[in-house]
Amino acid sequence: MEIKKGVAVSPGISIARSLTIDSEDYRIPRRPIEPSQRQAEVGRVKNAFRDAIDELTKLEAAQDRTQEGRIRDIFAVHLHFLRDRGLHKKIGDLIRSEKVQAEYAVSAVLREIASHFSKAKDVYISERAADIRDIERRLLKQLLGKKREDVGRLTEEVVIVARELSPTQTAGFDRRFVKGLATDAGGRTSHTAIVARSLGIPAVVALEDLTEVVGAESTVIVDGNRGIVIVNPDEQTIRQYEQYSREFAELKSRLDAIRGEPAVTRDGVRITLLGNIEFPDEAELVLDKGGEGIGLYRTEFLYLNRETEPTEEEHYHAYAQTIAVFRNRPVIIRTMDLGADKYTQSRRFAPEPNPFLGLRSIRFCLQNLTMFKTQLRAILRASVQGDVRIMFPLITNLQEIKQTRFILHDVMEDLHEESIRYNKNIPIGIMIETPSAALTAASLARDVDFFSIGTNDLTQYTLAVDRGNELVSTLYSSADPAVLRLIRMVCQDANKAQIETSICGEMASDPEFIMLLLGMGIRTISLAHPMLPEIKQIIRTVTMEECNGVARKVLKMNSERQISSFLRNAARKILPEAF
Ligand code: PEP
Ligand code: MG
Repeated sequence: MEIKKGVAVSPGISIARSLTIDSEDYRIPRRPIEPSQRQAEVGRVKNAFRDAIDELTKLEAAQDRTQEGRIRDIFAVHLHFLRDRGLHKKIGDLIRSEKVQAEYAVSAVLREIASHFSKAKDVYISERAADIRDIERRLLKQLLGKKREDVGRLTEEVVIVARELSPTQTAGFDRRFVKGLATDAGGRTSHTAIVARSLGIPAVVALEDLTEVVGAESTVIVDGNRGIVIVNPDEQTIRQYEQYSREFAELKSRLDAIRGEPAVTRDGVRITLLGNIEFPDEAELVLDKGGEGIGLYRTEFLYLNRETEPTEEEHYHAYAQTIAVFRNRPVIIRTMDLGADKYTQSRRFAPEPNPFLGLRSIRFCLQNLTMFKTQLRAILRASVQGDVRIMFPLITNLQEIKQTRFILHDVMEDLHEESIRYNKNIPIGIMIETPSAALTAASLARDVDFFSIGTNDLTQYTLAVDRGNELVSTLYSSADPAVLRLIRMVCQDANKAQIETSICGEMASDPEFIMLLLGMGIRTISLAHPMLPEIKQIIRTVTMEECNGVARKVLKMNSERQISSFLRNAARKILPEAF
């Protein structure tokens, strides 16, 4: 039994067999073997090459001869490499001399070749590095068993273990069988974690070397409440966790019972609870958990996991589907936030050295106007069907608002000329996600109808900590005094300008922060639907006076540690069962 501590990102407990899946950068641990096993390992390599050649030959034959010439050329190059005797010999020699497993030898030799190729000046040769990595993955798939990759066709419950997962991979998991997620990389606000939370799958990330600890078909416990993963637990631990799991399920069903009640504090202050969604079919789930509308629709997920851009009609139908669920209650559609960790499958965008500081979000939209206008047209067309509001992400200065408004008006004029109906007074909001936006909130407020504070990015950019990097995950905290002061400033400036400000970052789904947020003046909160009942229960248990007291004390504190521990204790007193 091995206990690993990571970062809890999606609540709940799961116990199931592990399924380790490949990611693009899979690391193969160096596991030594006995001298007597060397021949068997060389034999495994031989079989893996044979099976990979068979697989590729079949794939090559299946291609349409007229249309797919380029793909056939790629297969031919791969087959050429796989038949290279020198390559087989090199791998066999490594197994014999270093006494290592077949997987390790294949990976080490092919990565060395790939790295050699990638340094070549000749573009044709340097581009072959990607082919070598592809061949490595194909061989590893043979060696590790196809099961590892076949997440699409599961027939039994599993816990997915991976070095890292992309938001798209996570969104594609079959909820019936994927019971838990555990990854080496990631942070609480990485988009993979956000998707896991939306799907209600217990998840722990930042486990550093979990993939090296989990063997084939280990039993794994994922404790998404405490951020613990236990590999091969003993009987007593399993029984204890089964008990925790029952208690957690009871708490959830008790909380679900209040979904029809209003989110109002004990002294009568009404709070609006909205849902964050990535896909239109989540809108029903938000409603079901008592959400009063959508506070953040992450529309960039329409672009992920597909080769072509969504059409205006596809945008329109996704929005119309969401609006139909809420009718005249608010649906805030955020324009696409592509870039950073959310790239389209076809990776059309050139890799950037610092993607989180690069061509992301509104910046990307302002440089890709055709794509942007397609989305704006669809949102405007849908705007007549309900209380639709539009929100722009990652605004860092006034100029971006002006430019964006100019483009929106352009699209409005086009629609007008085509006699297509839209809401001319559609409320326009921006996300406050950078220190520059927070510090200039007073002036930005004059040009928009509402703010929504994106605390995930605001924390990342204020503290200079990558939100998805496990190596710095302990430095990432929205309880840092610098982040809290910026939030308070935004609340005060929005209040003075008499515009509404809400919170839609993951801070809003963390029970420990709720009293503080209310005390700082927040009255609208948007979060992933599984946490809605718990957050509502906290709101219904506190008074505004208590919340103001918490905010007053916390804003005088200077250290993140002190603030975190104060908030944890305060929340535990209110809803002890949730911890
Ligand atoms: C945020 O940054 O807090 C936010 C809500 O946007 P996203 O998580 O999609 O970047
Ligand atoms: Mg953001």
